[in-house]
Amino acid sequence: ASIFETVPGAPADIIFALTAAYKADTDPKKVNLGVGAYRTEEGKPWVLPVVKKADHIMVDDEDLDHEYLPILGLEGFRKASAKLILGADSKAIAEGRVGAAQCISGTGAVFTGAQFLSRHYPIKGAACYISNPTWANHRAIFEGVGIPVHEYPYWNPETKGLDLTGMLATMESAPEGSIFLIHPCAHNPTGVDPTPDQWKQIADVMERKAHFTFFDTAYQGFASGSLDKDAYSIRYFVERGFEMFIAQSFSKNFGLYSERAGNLTVVARTPEIKNHIESQIAKAQRAVISNPPAYGSRLVSLVLNDEKLYKEWEENLATMANRIIDMRKALFEELTKLGTPGTWNHIVDQIGMFSFTGLKKSQVQVLKEKYHVYLTDNGRISMAGLNTKNVKYFAAAVDDVVR
Ligand code: PMP
Repeated sequence: ASIFETVPGAPADIIFALTAAYKADTDPKKVNLGVGAYRTEEGKPWVLPVVKKADHIMVDDEDLDHEYLPILGLEGFRKASAKLILGADSKAIAEGRVGAAQCISGTGAVFTGAQFLSRHYPIKGAACYISNPTWANHRAIFEGVGIPVHEYPYWNPETKGLDLTGMLATMESAPEGSIFLIHPCAHNPTGVDPTPDQWKQIADVMERKAHFTFFDTAYQGFASGSLDKDAYSIRYFVERGFEMFIAQSFSKNFGLYSERAGNLTVVARTPEIKNHIESQIAKAQRAVISNPPAYGSRLVSLVLNDEKLYKEWEENLATMANRIIDMRKALFEELTKLGTPGTWNHIVDQIGMFSFTGLKKSQVQVLKEKYHVYLTDNGRISMAGLNTKNVKYFAAAVDDVVR
């Protein structure tokens, strides 16, 4: 007999299961719109040219070794990450009240922040509010550290846009000092972001209700192609004086998915409070990963701290962002040409890696079985999976399933 006789099996992760099903499909027409990873026009993964360059520099660097990094990670990486998201001229940085911890990519940064809140958030029993819908890991991470999770409305299926009224109403009715997890740009899965005026309304309620802001940014530079534009909401909140956590991922904007390069930026009221938070995070991190991995953070640090490489990175970012924007236009045009029932302008209005098509689960099923097109049941498509060779095929398939 096994001591583990009573352990039930857990369901497989939906996204990873989808990729496995796609790989097993032998039909040459198959299309993978599931996973949120950039693909080239040829449907291939892309190693950014600037990443290749930085790679060579590192290989040739005789001084690099494989010693442990500090518990909070590489200093140059942490500083540059905070500067990237808050801006080179950030007052909060100048005032010495911004801290940073290198984490196991964006996922690890969300976890690290959530774990800190579970231990040190002064309001006992405070819940974390996540958008409905959101990246599935948000609920899993916060529940995993014992923080109750509630949802705030986000997607309005009628307008295929933001449900601002519902979002604000929930912020208004939530107990004072609740935690709100907010996507600052390129919302996953909807691709719908608030406008500057809507951000102001959101900040007004967050301030009045003394809620804590936890930003999760996995797409800076990837959404609009501009690093500054995609950081707008975060910098606006900082300017208004909010304390906050910001989980940053370099998976998408550097194409470093497997290298797990991420950062948790902490904006605190004073340098002393920042130091206390950082030291608690270091203590906790020691017991989870001991110290973070070096390769990805060294590479990112090299690029962010070198003017020429930084410029080249921006060009690489624009290449990815623009190809995705082009695919939005192409898909919209194809559906318009076909006269596909329904409205489709949300495809071009939404931004970032994903589009929330509004397709129903039953229609997604047909796309999979009849057309070998793979996407999540909620109708989300990764725009990066489309290219000039398959967009017509996909549009025709959509046209068929909605009729
Ligand atoms: N947050 C959001 C909203 C995401 O979409 C992602 C990537 N799917 C992440 C965080 C973090 O991903 P990673 O751990 O690969 O950096």
